[in-house]
Amino acid sequence: MRYVSTRAATPGTIGFDDVLLAGLAPDGGLYVPERLPALALEELAGLPYAELATRVMLPFVGDALEEAEFRRLVTDAYAGFGHAAVAPLKQLDERLWLLELFHGPTLAFKDYALQLVGRLFDAVLARRRRRVTIVGATSGDTGSAAMEACRDRELVDLVILFPKGRTSEVQRRQMTTIPSPNVHAVAIEGTFDDCQDLVKAMFADARFREELQLSAVNSINWARVMAQIVYYVAAAVALGAPRRSVSFTVPTGNFGNVYAGHVARRMGLPVERLAIGTNRNDILQRFISSGRMTIGAVEPSLSPSMDIQVSSNFERLLFELKGRDGAAVAAAMSAFRRTGTLPTTAAEWEAARSLFSAHRVDDEATLAEIAATWRATGELLDPHSAVAVAAARAEKGNPMVALACAHPAKFPDAVAKATGVRPALPPALADLMERKERVTVLPNDLEAVQSFVRDVARVTA
Ligand SMILES: *Cc1c(COP(=O)(O)O)cnc(C)c1O
Repeated sequence: MRYVSTRAATPGTIGFDDVLLAGLAPDGGLYVPERLPALALEELAGLPYAELATRVMLPFVGDALEEAEFRRLVTDAYAGFGHAAVAPLKQLDERLWLLELFHGPTLAFKDYALQLVGRLFDAVLARRRRRVTIVGATSGDTGSAAMEACRDRELVDLVILFPKGRTSEVQRRQMTTIPSPNVHAVAIEGTFDDCQDLVKAMFADARFREELQLSAVNSINWARVMAQIVYYVAAAVALGAPRRSVSFTVPTGNFGNVYAGHVARRMGLPVERLAIGTNRNDILQRFISSGRMTIGAVEPSLSPSMDIQVSSNFERLLFELKGRDGAAVAAAMSAFRRTGTLPTTAAEWEAARSLFSAHRVDDEATLAEIAATWRATGELLDPHSAVAVAAARAEKGNPMVALACAHPAKFPDAVAKATGVRPALPPALADLMERKERVTVLPNDLEAVQSFVRDVARVTA
């Protein structure tokens, strides 16, 4: 399997291992496969999750890894999940199902991709006799998922910056209580934007980037999209695909998760409706309803992992809408950055609307959905999952699957406000509040952060 950049004027191709380590293409584009493999749906019924995952993903890996090694990594990635089915379905009413994607170590769906990506990094780096230093910024969930994915990986050191005092206590403790010596939580005296700027500045410093062999595991990495295709396939097959088509609603921020559902459909999964759920940060919903994608100000909501205006993975869909013309995508993205409005044609809007529907669910409707589902079924939904369920109620599909992307105990305040019930952490995290914390506090200063990274990274040793 070969990959191309969404911004390449003249398409050169690279393999899976280079895509994995690079994340972003040098021209600023995102990598996509040259062509998509077809799913062998008839062969997938009844398989354990790890085996189904291996078969769905293997064509994307190509010859970067041996099949047996890949199967071992996939099996290992999901072995520690808190539910034997890994991504179980739970029926809410006669046509509506919840796909629970919160049984990984940090209780959010990002574990499903990152647990595998961390292991893929180690495997590919071992072949190349290389090490990397991964740096990232987080406002909450991604940091802990990346730290859990990279902990104890031989060839990876990870430094995560978060804004001091601005994450929830559960989120902070999920980062600061991991005892592994190769992952480091750093509290920056500043905002999330300051943290992001520090990471960008480290990548922009060519000497530092080279010296530390810097790398990233952010949501634009193709390997993350690849791992997210799997649970759409697993859910649809469990509900009767390929004989029966299935619909999905997805709580959406960076467009990575719902885009993976789109790729699954392109690979032959019978997906009837694919719906985007947004909170008050509704740029995608406005685009689907009006054809205009215009950036607004990011406003805080009850579903903070969706408080995003520019959905970075949307560029992959744009590449498809523009007939895989990299130069046209590069021009559109540069205009988007300059003017705040993405130039798209009526035909592109029509095509996008035929692929996705979209629903805006504000905080009030989110709380109402948590309360209504609790009364009707006894299930506690976190606010992100509630956006998906509310979107599902506005859609026609049957069976309809709403993606539950976080455990309710990650957002106990919103759940308690809606239901009066404070959800308990699952057994594996029950003692989180008593665990010993390890955190370094640093000023919002590039030199201080770079010197910390140099000290902890084994690349320079
Ligand atoms: C990251 C996240 C999202 C958004 O997913 P995207 O792939 O960025 O669209 C939604 N819900 C939860 C709980 C998340 O952690």
